[in-house]
Amino acid sequence: MIPEFEVTILGNTSSIPVHGRNHTSQVIRYGQELLLLDCGEGTQIQLRKYKVKSSRITHIFISHLHGDHYLGLVGLLSSYNLAKRSKPLTIFGPQGLDEIIITNFRWSNTKLGYPLTFIKTDPSGFNLVLNLPGIDVFSFPMKHRLPTTGFLIKEKPGYRSLIKEKLRASPAPLEAIQSLRKGENYKDSSGKTYSLEEYTYPLPPMRTYAFCSDTIFDPELAQYISGVDLLYHESTFMDSDEKRAADTFHSTSSQAAKIANMSGVKKLLLGHFSSRYVHLEPMLAEAQVFFPETILSEEGQTYAL
Ligand SMILES: [Zn+2]
Repeated sequence: MIPEFEVTILGNTSSIPVHGRNHTSQVIRYGQELLLLDCGEGTQIQLRKYKVKSSRITHIFISHLHGDHYLGLVGLLSSYNLAKRSKPLTIFGPQGLDEIIITNFRWSNTKLGYPLTFIKTDPSGFNLVLNLPGIDVFSFPMKHRLPTTGFLIKEKPGYRSLIKEKLRASPAPLEAIQSLRKGENYKDSSGKTYSLEEYTYPLPPMRTYAFCSDTIFDPELAQYISGVDLLYHESTFMDSDEKRAADTFHSTSSQAAKIANMSGVKKLLLGHFSSRYVHLEPMLAEAQVFFPETILSEEGQTYAL
């Protein structure tokens, strides 16, 4: 059975949470695994609102240390403590994040009842940061005003499913079945070959999701996110504010669409909208000129891969 792989948007605004939009955070679900990408202010409230079983989150990834991407962490970690969490939690993030969190807890005399581990991300290269049974998580550099990384979540190759009707009609020995499941042809002692083409379905495609939180227009991103199934790319401004986007190391929706286009991704999800825009349809229209398969992220919505 193919595990469900999906992303739920908990927040999609930049700077100030207004117009019913909250700060950046997303939940990734892969089978039974829950990961959190960024943890803006109010994330624990959003998790509850959208009925995410937050106790099941095992790993949190923080892209950078602007407040709208991590200020919800202390609240979430404190609530885990109040709920008597015992399950270990690992947080990946930039240098300094551990110091910020530990200082908070030291001065509030909070002793966490669960193991908390910090792993520092490297804002200068493409790195495998987490290896789980079905997926790998990589970090990659982005150009912003602070050291910042994006995250790529890549499904590992699955197993080939056996064609049961074929096996019933023409049974294969156990050794052949074991080889076929591993993705190898099998030849028995008499020279008969049991081939993958004959006995198994093709491998399911490996699904990929890329998260680009805050970045200036940066064509170099294409090397890390090439061909992903779903790209979340920040879209803070519209074309009329292109200069402001460059000055603040952010992107316009057109620029996000150009990155999606040059990276050959299948679908683009826009987010991190500036508080200056109440209605976002014009922003979507600007992006779709360059990449028609663009959608606006919506809080509480889940996007399947
Ligand atoms: Zn930022």
